[in-house]
Amino acid sequence: KLTVTDLHKRFGALEVLRGVDLVVPAGAVISIIGPSGSGKSTLLRCVNRLEEADAGEIALDGMPITRLRGRDLDAVRRRIGMVFQQFNLFPHRTVLDNLTMAQRVVSGVPRRAAEDRARSLLDRVGLAEKAHELPGRLSGGQQQRVAIARALAMDPEVMLFDEVTSALDPELVTDVLDVMRRLAEGGMTMVVVTHEMSFARDVSDEVLFMDQGVVVERGDPATVFTAPAHERTRRFLDRVL
Ligand code: ATP
Ligand code: MG
Repeated sequence: KLTVTDLHKRFGALEVLRGVDLVVPAGAVISIIGPSGSGKSTLLRCVNRLEEADAGEIALDGMPITRLRGRDLDAVRRRIGMVFQQFNLFPHRTVLDNLTMAQRVVSGVPRRAAEDRARSLLDRVGLAEKAHELPGRLSGGQQQRVAIARALAMDPEVMLFDEVTSALDPELVTDVLDVMRRLAEGGMTMVVVTHEMSFARDVSDEVLFMDQGVVVERGDPATVFTAPAHERTRRFLDRVL
């Protein structure tokens, strides 16, 4: 279970997060929607400490992670997988190496075990036959599925997805969403920032609408999408649906 309590973050004069609360129970899928600049990425980046929050608390299974440093921080980061819009794969390493490197270097998993795990994950994302390719020879959608498999290789307890389909050609989006859908069905705890409203509606247990650094509205997807309580949510949905 991941909890975020009253999170604040500013960049200079700009207050990007103004008291955000988030509860992600184990096995739940929470989607975050909202206009550009509302603070969605910053929220995710604060959760795995790519950004330092100014105030507020983040806890993973009750352990506060906001002030961890050094090894403790590394340890908790390993429990949180993140996938970005840009795939950030190592371009000069094969797909298999991309999946085994962190396991071996960070967690000290022996080569054979790391490769077995990598192959089984590649199989899960439908890319078993691409193990020895370089990322640049894969389509965007395939690269993103490799990035998801790579994050899963560390056996995270929570997965954070930041607009992972936004850079993809439309025909490649479905395969990536299918992988995420199956992950959700398998019980993974997930926070998904997305512009894919049908995914948010069909897969999530809860939808959060963020605007200008606050959560304006949250609720079950059926309610938020069909009968939003707030005018700002309504206006946003009118534009994107
Ligand atoms: P999008 O949908 O476009 O990805 P977002 O909701 O993810 O938007 P953020 O990336 O969290 O929004 O950015 C929120 C605000 O913080 C924006 O105004 C952005 O310009 C600003 N911001 C983000 N990162 C930094 C940074 N490192 N330095 C200064 N300002 C930043
Ligand atoms: Mg963003």
